[in-house]
Amino acid sequence: MIELARSVLTFSLAGALSVLWSGAFAAPASPSDRESAPVITALRASRMISGGVVTHNQVVIVIGNRIAAVGPAADVVIPPGAKVIDFGSDTLLPGLIDTHTHLFLQGEDPAAGGYDVQLLKYPLSFRAARAVVAARRALEQGFTTLRDVETEGAGYGDVGIKMAIEGGFIPGPRLFVSTVSISTTGGYNLEGYAPEIVVPKGSQLIDGPIEARRAAREQLSHGADWIKVYMTHRSWLDAEGNLVSQPTLTVEELKAIVDETHGWRRKVACHAYNGLGLQRALDGGCDTIEHGLELSDANIAQMLKQGTWYVPTLAVYYYDWSPEDTDGGRKDRKEVALHGQSFAKALKAGVKIAFGTDVGGFPWSDSIAQEFGREVQFGMTPLQAIDTATTRAAELLGMQGQIGVISKGAYADLIAVRGDPSADVERLKQVRFVMKDGKVFSDSEHPVESGEGAR
Ligand SMILES: [Zn+2]
Repeated sequence: MIELARSVLTFSLAGALSVLWSGAFAAPASPSDRESAPVITALRASRMISGGVVTHNQVVIVIGNRIAAVGPAADVVIPPGAKVIDFGSDTLLPGLIDTHTHLFLQGEDPAAGGYDVQLLKYPLSFRAARAVVAARRALEQGFTTLRDVETEGAGYGDVGIKMAIEGGFIPGPRLFVSTVSISTTGGYNLEGYAPEIVVPKGSQLIDGPIEARRAAREQLSHGADWIKVYMTHRSWLDAEGNLVSQPTLTVEELKAIVDETHGWRRKVACHAYNGLGLQRALDGGCDTIEHGLELSDANIAQMLKQGTWYVPTLAVYYYDWSPEDTDGGRKDRKEVALHGQSFAKALKAGVKIAFGTDVGGFPWSDSIAQEFGREVQFGMTPLQAIDTATTRAAELLGMQGQIGVISKGAYADLIAVRGDPSADVERLKQVRFVMKDGKVFSDSEHPVESGEGAR
């Protein structure tokens, strides 16, 4: 009990003083900052998964917004007055992390105007309102942290959404935001309009290392936690049926961005499909390769040497295929064939792989957890797949030990799912309980009716 009393003191202080991110934008004081006595919750789990290990009959003590103790039920003392939640045969896991999302996209239906209508016709307030819903949807599905990789023409809207979440004004995951992103002239949508018409772009377009560095500085100074760069743009099949993608930034342009961003102790995420653009992404020092549809053996060797992360986003490429006998349809099928092979090769070689979905590229009403099934399809065990969205994703974000793990001192981001996801990853689609930062967001067995935590 002495140990516990010390924990209470330590964690209430930590809760009051901790600042999650060192961004320039401090959110207004949240209601929780004014609380005095920290809430104590004890979670009983007959099965728990954390750090790639399955354990049984565990108890987790949450004080304030941190995990104060975790261990076998026989060894952990539940403090008097604690609220006890017993998960029965369900499984307790760390809150999940998606490292590739777009809160400001909604899986645009081509028949409803597709991507372009978002930038051409919708007020930013409308897009922000939908991003608020998307953030809530992520949390409902057990994703307590997102790396959101650009707003697609909605400027610095992600910085505002993050402030509103951190301030306790709206529910949502912890956010790492990338703001506007960077590509080159001819390297991003909107496209296909008369050359005389100036249309908005879904990315900040630069030409030359000076403009590249300036764009990175602008975005970092306005609150970007990561810089997102598009290293390839259009793609097609050549006469031999090979996937070809148009490269965008030169190595010199990318190096200016990476140098600037690393100077701020932040990192660079690079969209790259294959070929020349992917090679430049690696030569220029990207920290994470997004999508990586076709990784050559040399690419994989270079990623291993440089410690580059791979965020494959498999599931999104199974959406909206064109008919089989069209150019687009052939490309759709070629892409997933190459992608599956690349994933399997990277896994076997030991490339660091983190969970990412590109949700927003498909509707937020669809399951984010569908990606786990694709990871298993291409060679991961269920526990490896769970690791990509917990310990591995936390490592990518530089948050190891803080999130993605159930251990003493970590943030109390916890979920429970039906049954045993180490036997069947599809269980991760059935989230019954979500706690973020020590507060119960949803509990299907014991619905939150009102008061703190009610939304
Ligand atoms: Zn994306």
